[in-house]
Amino acid sequence: MQSSTASPAPAVGVSPAWAIDSATKMERELVARYGEPQRERIERGLQQVAEFWRAEDGDAAAFEDFVRANFAGDQATLDTMFNRLEHLLEQLGGHMHEINREFRQQMDLDLGPVLPFDEIIGGYDPSAHVLDDFFHNKLAFVVLLNFPLTTLDERLKDGPSWSRRQWVETRLAEGFSKRIPAEVSLGIAQAEAQSGQYIAEYNIWMHHLVDAQGQRLFPPKMRLLSHWNLRDEIKSDYADSSAGLAKQRTIQQVMERIVTQTIPAVVVNNPAVDWNPSTNQVTPAAVKDSDAAPAPAKLSNAREPDTRYTMLQKTFLAAKQADPYSPTAPTLIARRFDEDREIPEPRVRAMLEQVLTSPLVPQVAKLIEARLKRPLEPFDVWYNGFRPGSQFTEAQLDEMVAKKYPTPQAYQQDIPNLLLKLGFSPERAQYVAGHIQVDPARGSGHAMSAEMRSEKAHLRTRVEKSGMNYKGFNIAVHEMGHNVEQTFSLNDVDHTLVKGVPNTAFTEALAFVFQGHDLELLGLPAPDAKSQAEKTLNDFWGTYEIAGVALVDMAVWHWMYDHPHASPKELNDATVQISRDVWNRYYAPIFQKKDVVLLGVYSHMIDSFLYLPDYPIGHLIAFQIEEQMKKAGAIGPEFERMAKMGDVTPDLWMENATGKPVGAEALLEATQKALAATGGR
Ligand SMILES: [Zn+2]
Repeated sequence: MQSSTASPAPAVGVSPAWAIDSATKMERELVARYGEPQRERIERGLQQVAEFWRAEDGDAAAFEDFVRANFAGDQATLDTMFNRLEHLLEQLGGHMHEINREFRQQMDLDLGPVLPFDEIIGGYDPSAHVLDDFFHNKLAFVVLLNFPLTTLDERLKDGPSWSRRQWVETRLAEGFSKRIPAEVSLGIAQAEAQSGQYIAEYNIWMHHLVDAQGQRLFPPKMRLLSHWNLRDEIKSDYADSSAGLAKQRTIQQVMERIVTQTIPAVVVNNPAVDWNPSTNQVTPAAVKDSDAAPAPAKLSNAREPDTRYTMLQKTFLAAKQADPYSPTAPTLIARRFDEDREIPEPRVRAMLEQVLTSPLVPQVAKLIEARLKRPLEPFDVWYNGFRPGSQFTEAQLDEMVAKKYPTPQAYQQDIPNLLLKLGFSPERAQYVAGHIQVDPARGSGHAMSAEMRSEKAHLRTRVEKSGMNYKGFNIAVHEMGHNVEQTFSLNDVDHTLVKGVPNTAFTEALAFVFQGHDLELLGLPAPDAKSQAEKTLNDFWGTYEIAGVALVDMAVWHWMYDHPHASPKELNDATVQISRDVWNRYYAPIFQKKDVVLLGVYSHMIDSFLYLPDYPIGHLIAFQIEEQMKKAGAIGPEFERMAKMGDVTPDLWMENATGKPVGAEALLEATQKALAATGGR
């Protein structure tokens, strides 16, 4: 398997044939005008402009005139350009975001009925064509001529010694690092929509699963979406002491048939047939629990014809079309790891393997076996018996919360007080609270950032007529964590071009820190050591599970890049083999069973373009930040210190935050302690 950080291939054949000659000519001219010390900048700028220039942008003379007029050959001009662009791009992004927020208001907030036109306007994105426009009017080329595009390799190697200004210039240029033609973007959106649609309709009608005796284990009307609901049903079946185990084994068979595509096509999303997943026999439904038309008497149990892998392959082929237009990250794999995550793939793989091969895995597995009083079975990768105990019932908590927060306004008014309890100074608590506006959410709640300093972050929270309930409060505290991070990382970072955090895992980790203290914010005691240990073990086992899933996702994308002309059947076979290999290596020794294909069942694998590694990395990051908060004591000042670092690479951010790069140690150390606390060893 090749590394994703190989040096980028030039976009051969995309720029006009004269571009090289013109660039050479202009280099001579500009060096003569601005002096030898500017040669490196001139050379790089010309190469970047030439790389993205298309015939439609103008002929050689137009290229040369453009370069003459727009190269900032002295520091004063460069500073002016940098400062103005930073201000203007903040205004553009901020106002576009403001329009989006206003246009979505009716859909997002609890403001009465949504009319069909509200959905049209809510789905409209005024910024969709901005990048195209900036290539057309050549503003993008001004940036490319004057500021450096970098590879992840360069950012990792040189970044730690860069000045802040160098970091900011790098982020400025990154906004223009791709020029993907509209038809390629459209192809990607179509493949995503099509595969998403396939996944969204992939339901299993559970009452129609029958065993050899014709027994039905699941209740009527139960319709489970693969893989989320199937997995969650396995989790809740641990509480069913009579039929739980049989149900879990049945779901495992269903999942395996989905991965291998031996599932009969006719049973997908079809309550008109009964199916025995063990023998694969299909018959017309003997019971009716839907208004679907009855099935014909003669039924075929022909397998699903590799549709799952046809969909996956479509997303791959669509994504691959963008490769030539993304010179600093010329594969989807590189775009995911080098741009979105900014952690090289080999390092991610090493971190995942560190968890998967940790000596803690067999210890936690033994604890699970002891609690289950039976040997592990493969579906126990989804074991959910590590649970924090609670002193209070949900009803008691609901009552407390409803009394405290009868309206969203009551929560709004209490924000400074909540922040004080989290260790912010009175002055900082007032400051942050002044940047957050609470709105009544239509759904369960979410946080919406501001994208310019003159705007507030929005906390959307659900408040029932009877007042806020505990679940709503727990979510509101999480979303408030996002808003506080958003406030610092926009308003208190030194440059708006590096506003934010490295990626979503960081803002989620910071939000979880707030959420983990929700009981204390209600004036109740913090979770005790035993509860915390259970939570840690739950997170560890979840990370162990999803790390293998992520490795399968990664290996499948490499396989597709290595076999771009494979048939869907070949991709099916390869995915099944990869799922088995990863299982055999990291799970078979624990579960004492070989060749299990369950790791291939995640639906994200089909429609989410190599998204799965985000989950285990997110767990690792969350633990690092949590452990640092524990060390620091008061959350407030530490939270602010971390959030002000801005959007640099994850490793640099984490070193500033905790003294160490992103890694698995914090999770493993916490798990070790948790095992000791629960008597697991
Ligand atoms: Zn969140």
